[in-house]
Amino acid sequence: MRWNVAAECISVVFLIIIWSYARKGDLLPSLKNRLFQCCFLATFCAMFSNILSTAFLAFPQYVPYQVSWAVTMVYFMATPLMGMAYFYYTTATVYENHEGISKVIGWSCIPGIIYLFLVILNLPCKLLFNIQPDGTYTQGPLIITTYLVFYIYSLAAMAIVLIKHAWIEQNIRRILAMFPFIAMVVIVIQQLCPTILLSGSAATSALLLIYLYLQNKQISFDYLTDIPNRQEFLKMLELMIRKNEKSSFTIIVLSLRGFKQINDTFGQQSGDAFLKAVSAHLHTIIAKQYLFRFSGDEFAILEKNADEEKIRQIIGSIKERMNFPFTVKECSCIIQSAMGVVSYPETADSVEGLINGIEYAVSKAKQDRTRAVYYCGQDMMRELRRRIQIAEILKVKLKNNDFDVFYQPIIDTRNNKFVLAESLLRIPDSPIGAVYPDEFIPIAEETGMIIEMTYQILQKVCCFMNRLLENEIELEGIHVNFSAVQFTQLDLAEKVLTIIEENHTPYSKIKIEITESVLAESAQLVNGFAEEMHKHGVMLGLDDFGTGYSNIVSVMETPLDVIKIDKSLVWSSMAVPKSAGMLRSMTGIFHDMDLKVLAEGVETPEQDKFIKDSGIDFIQGFLYARPMPGEEMLKLLLAEKQGSK
Ligand code: C2E
Ligand code: CA
Ligand code: CA
Repeated sequence: MRWNVAAECISVVFLIIIWSYARKGDLLPSLKNRLFQCCFLATFCAMFSNILSTAFLAFPQYVPYQVSWAVTMVYFMATPLMGMAYFYYTTATVYENHEGISKVIGWSCIPGIIYLFLVILNLPCKLLFNIQPDGTYTQGPLIITTYLVFYIYSLAAMAIVLIKHAWIEQNIRRILAMFPFIAMVVIVIQQLCPTILLSGSAATSALLLIYLYLQNKQISFDYLTDIPNRQEFLKMLELMIRKNEKSSFTIIVLSLRGFKQINDTFGQQSGDAFLKAVSAHLHTIIAKQYLFRFSGDEFAILEKNADEEKIRQIIGSIKERMNFPFTVKECSCIIQSAMGVVSYPETADSVEGLINGIEYAVSKAKQDRTRAVYYCGQDMMRELRRRIQIAEILKVKLKNNDFDVFYQPIIDTRNNKFVLAESLLRIPDSPIGAVYPDEFIPIAEETGMIIEMTYQILQKVCCFMNRLLENEIELEGIHVNFSAVQFTQLDLAEKVLTIIEENHTPYSKIKIEITESVLAESAQLVNGFAEEMHKHGVMLGLDDFGTGYSNIVSVMETPLDVIKIDKSLVWSSMAVPKSAGMLRSMTGIFHDMDLKVLAEGVETPEQDKFIKDSGIDFIQGFLYARPMPGEEMLKLLLAEKQGSK
């Protein structure tokens, strides 16, 4: 018989091309990636031995028939191996995140092993093929088993995808079911036209399909820095935890501080070049498969079985480099950085725990200008768990609109009467006991929950104000605190006005407190908002004045109503004459600007006297009243009203 090997020869070329690309792809030492390499090896062996054996049989005069025998044996052995490798690749993909693969592998190797015996048995029994000393090739009575084994593994691959379809993403499912199907179709054609050899082409088509959709470098690599991406990092962690339960590893995440500013200053392209430069530098310290792009401006380093000294060394060398400018094209700048460190199993024993820990450590390092590296140990993990608990409490409260709003009365210094109040959030009871604003407000801000919370509080404040008005209590207004994140909302003004309008509360009775930092960071946004509020009579107050952010120009440009002197300034004025002088002068200046001045944190008669002597208009402090529930506040104001009659 004469065979046509053209398709097989072309497929070998294709196979080499795919292999050379796929080699650069997934670096993860996972079972799936290893099996993908096995698929290459088996396919290559099968195709190469097939071509070789065909050539030898075509020219028996040049090749001893024993050599043809040996090569044909290799071909017959490699063919089921190829089917097995593809089946195992499918199984490894299906079981990637699940237990129990060893059982499947155990059972499913039986047909392959039986077939291998058959190939060995072929030597004496000639069940599959025979080659005569003159080079004549004849098929044996069991030749069909060669195809059968291929079909069995292809069908088994399809079956496992079908049975475990719930475990697999839809697009992966489609590919996994498709490639054995294509391979089978090609083999059917092969059976119909036995002189054209196609088994290698079938395998190569399947490999191409797998490579394009499942093993492609683009799936696992970051295009810009050419290092594995975050998904790959998470997979790697999963793998290391699952496989090496006894060994340890450390993760360092390097976060570039203020990278947005670099992008804004030098342009996106240069920003990308800086990222590449940082990644290239890290690459000089860490092997490529252990360096990952963790997020836009963050890189993760994974160090296996590292002792403290080694970690210190890595951190030291990164820090040292970051002290010097990076130069790309004509741009040069020092890139500020912060680092978080976690270790397995000390910090946490799950991927989720490690990621939470590292993100927390990085956020801490980013906030702290004096310390660039934070290690997330058990203490920090406890802190983190508490934050997660608090976030959960906030979520439930937000969903049920269940926040307690307390009110702290504010007096007018001219007559010591309560004329204003500040609304303050309270969580007096929760599964972890009382939680205070200084702890939960930053969490609400970081998670963005504060935005909806503020609308709920505003709604409650409007209702409370209405109740006061129904009781003919003429409070000038209630202050509501607005955080910086609130100003990221484009429809903020519209929403605030709608809430007040829907409650039929007079606009002038609501006063919004913003902090100095808000004014410093987003002066323009605040100005637009303030003007819109001003038009309707909602006034703005500046909170925490004196904590170090205010730019007097912003204060002048924003239509403000009242300036709240921060308690720290009030307290320091009692001890430091310079502070006292400044407080008095500032009060004068604000009065000249037609602004009212309020002092908070007044706790003692001495402070009270000093504040009043300074000409300040309003006082909020424990000396007069602490924050209290609405009912209590109503009673207090009613009593005051009765008293003044
Ligand atoms: P803040 O806006 O500066 O609120 C004033 C804080 O000073 C309140 O603390 C109040 O109880 C406290 N205070 C008032 N008088 C005195 C005094 O005489 N002595 C002392 N030691 N403290 C006094 P609180 O309620 O614990 O709130 C802390 C911070 O949490 C607030 O500071 C504010 O930044 C934030 N916060 C509270 N409620 C809300 C809210 O509804 N929304 C937003 N965005 N932030 C809130
Ligand atoms: Ca306030
Ligand atoms: Ca304040």
